[in-house]
Amino acid sequence: MPERAFGVAPKPLDNARGHSAQLGATPIPPLYHFTCDHHVAGIVAVGAIVPNYHEAMPRLPPMVWLTSDPHPTREDVGLTSMTLNCDRMAHRFMVIEPIGVVPWDRLYKAIRASDIARQLGYHDVAAQLQFGRDAATWWVSTFAIPAVLG
Ligand SMILES: [Zn+2]
Repeated sequence: MPERAFGVAPKPLDNARGHSAQLGATPIPPLYHFTCDHHVAGIVAVGAIVPNYHEAMPRLPPMVWLTSDPHPTREDVGLTSMTLNCDRMAHRFMVIEPIGVVPWDRLYKAIRASDIARQLGYHDVAAQLQFGRDAATWWVSTFAIPAVLG
């Protein structure tokens, strides 16, 4: 049997620790966030989209909601403004640093697998949230996400 080159087994580099993707991780596409006149100035001032609690799932950590679709319909992203008077798609931000973003589907599956989420009714809320939407384009993060208008 031939010896391994240099006689040592390959091993992970120390300086790569914490920087490599998990097995099965999804490559992050360009991401966008849509908002209304009431929130655009705040995001511009901070330079980032700040996580918020979801009103129907207040026990989840505050999150930023994003889409990989640069030109979604209101139905795709669920910003139909049926419960609000303002146009929640009046302004589009482009994500500069997708810190901690994960596909919505990963959170959805975690919610569906959680007994506590079931007790809170979040199974139904999450299912209704994505029903008829293009949820495959949704991403979430619990971090403030640096972004610019555009
Ligand atoms: Zn508004």
